[in-house]
Amino acid sequence: MPAKTKPKNASEPMHVCGNCGKQTPESKLAQITHGFWERVSPGEIMPSGECPRCGALCRPLVTATTRYEVVIKKLLSTVQATGGLLIYPDTTVAPGR
Ligand SMILES: [Zn+2]
Repeated sequence: MPAKTKPKNASEPMHVCGNCGKQTPESKLAQITHGFWERVSPGEIMPSGECPRCGALCRPLVTATTRYEVVIKKLLSTVQATGGLLIYPDTTVAPGR
């Protein structure tokens, strides 16, 4: 029976190269070895490493956090629209009874 190709580690965070756009798993990222402060501007997302292909800076791929941010923004706008009351789908009103 032929051996299966190496299993893909789905839980490993992926990082995207700012130059070539390739995705690299965290374990394959190269260390940022030079010119960190020349290459990163204030307010920029912290780079996670260097692209093993072209040496440009990589940043984390869009993460679950971003999806939570969307939910939280939606939640906040809902709360504002209801004058500070949060009404759940089952019509429970927060803060609770
Ligand atoms: Zn690259």
